[in-house]
Amino acid sequence: MASAAFDTLLIANRGEIALRILRSARDLGLRTVAVHSEADRDLLHVNMADQSLCIGPGAASSSYLDANRILRAAELTGAGAIHPGYGFLSENANFAESVEKAGLIFVGPDSAAIRIMGDKVSAKQAMLRAGVPCVPGSPGALPADKKETHALAKACGYPLIIKASGGGGGRGMRVVRSAEQLDEAVAVTKEEAGRAFGNPEVYLEKFLEHPRHIEIQILADGHGNVVWLGERDCSMQRRNQKVIEEAPAPGIDRDALRDLGKRCAKACSMIGYRGAGTFEFLYEDGEFYFIEMNTRVQVEHPVTELVTGVDIVREQLRIAMGMTLSIEQKDVRMRGHAIECRINAEDPYTFAPCPGKVEQWIAPAGPGVRVDTHLYSGYTIPPYYDSLIAKCIVHAASREEAIARMQGALSETRLSGVKSNIPLHQTLMTEDGFVQGGADIHHLERYLSQSNERTREHAK
Ligand code: ADP
Repeated sequence: MASAAFDTLLIANRGEIALRILRSARDLGLRTVAVHSEADRDLLHVNMADQSLCIGPGAASSSYLDANRILRAAELTGAGAIHPGYGFLSENANFAESVEKAGLIFVGPDSAAIRIMGDKVSAKQAMLRAGVPCVPGSPGALPADKKETHALAKACGYPLIIKASGGGGGRGMRVVRSAEQLDEAVAVTKEEAGRAFGNPEVYLEKFLEHPRHIEIQILADGHGNVVWLGERDCSMQRRNQKVIEEAPAPGIDRDALRDLGKRCAKACSMIGYRGAGTFEFLYEDGEFYFIEMNTRVQVEHPVTELVTGVDIVREQLRIAMGMTLSIEQKDVRMRGHAIECRINAEDPYTFAPCPGKVEQWIAPAGPGVRVDTHLYSGYTIPPYYDSLIAKCIVHAASREEAIARMQGALSETRLSGVKSNIPLHQTLMTEDGFVQGGADIHHLERYLSQSNERTREHAK
């Protein structure tokens, strides 16, 4: 690693997370550099940064995903470190390696750790070695031979899921319910994976029918200190993408979670992990199964920040500066309950993205309400990027109070000019399955298809 001292941080991202990073960097007295596309000149953090640089046109492939332009910007501005945020280049081992080679600090684990954990097959193998339970499946990537693949599938049992080793963002997965569907599913997923992730390797694992998505947040400082900051429940998903997240996970045995957290921390020590990271698990019938690790800050990190009081981005930056963690495991407590609703600029019924000009935006506020967003009245949401425009996060003494607080927060939000999924969140805050707690990962889709049916019936 390059010398840990740096006074200028380049933020290689956009939107709410770029602003979030800028704030923690400023708290630490760092100079900030914003790099942005031509479509993002009006972003809040671009105007707030000490220096900003346009690195290319709107399309992400020629700006936020162009490693050379970002490295050149770091050189021009004298930045000593690069924070990649989430998405874009955040889990790209080649990018992390080029940053290292340029003598700069990548705010995250070293490229070798990203390479191991970024590939789902090698990550699972590393986790099994560290004693972390995984979803049963093929021991590695599927062989080219169809007969061997069928044998592996039979040993695993149907239904199963074909997954791309290099997959991410809920893409590159296909459920297979019988042997007749296997060959085609493997071929199609391979083809898709090659195109989308540049790696056609796929593997198979048992498809769990009604799991919950539970994840463990960790921080490791590279000096031998690792803490886990409790868990998050991210089971409310649509098309494998998270919609609502919360901490702690309702109704799961605390001792079992503690044991899991300790295993994750141990796995980090074993692989020499440095930085923030998340171990994702499926939880079914009282058992946890590791599915993947994210080697970066996550969209849903604020729920953990609210219940533990730890500023995860600040810790990331401190770790990158070569400091030790500012907390020890014995200091980590989860207080109360936090919920996050991801607010997207999209049609609340068809989910079609809805970029455009925000006429009016008034964010909710008050005790226990936090909004992470880059929106302001008059801002135009460009069509090039993810539709996430704000995260409404609440914290209260209990889950019930947190739900009530979220209802209040959503109802006082004013957003006009673009459509958003706020109405969906408002409905979900009163929906039986969610309110009860502990819904599985298919709950939201089931609910949506039932309410579509009801709407159709109504229209008849
Ligand atoms: P990504 O990297 O694309 O987010 P993950 O491996 O984390 O992919 O899986 C995303 C989601 O897909 C999970 O949260 C879960 O909803 C579903 N999923 C993944 N693996 C399985 C499985 N073995 N059984 C059932 N659902 C799964």
